[in-house]
Amino acid sequence: MAAHDVCCQALWYFFYQTVGGLPGIERGIMRVNVDMGSCQHYGQCVFAAPEVFDLDGDGKLQYRVDAAEDQRAAVEAAADACPMQAITIVD
Ligand code: SF4
Repeated sequence: MAAHDVCCQALWYFFYQTVGGLPGIERGIMRVNVDMGSCQHYGQCVFAAPEVFDLDGDGKLQYRVDAAEDQRAAVEAAADACPMQAITIVD
């Protein structure tokens, strides 16, 4: 094994240990769906998972369809908190 290979492996190891991989690829993406026909824009999901859900200036729900896997627990909490049961995670 060449010194160059060892050096590259060490750099990748450091990268994965510190950054956790490439955002949205190695960390994983989950797909979030909100049934906008059911959503009443109450905003409980915004409190549970503010990185994924937000209300716009008109009070209408906006959300990330592709959310980082590390937000899964928060999105599950948002789904549990939604009074309309409008949130699903599509893996
Ligand atoms: S908690 Fe449910 S009903 Fe309320 S804004 Fe979020 S998705 Fe819509």
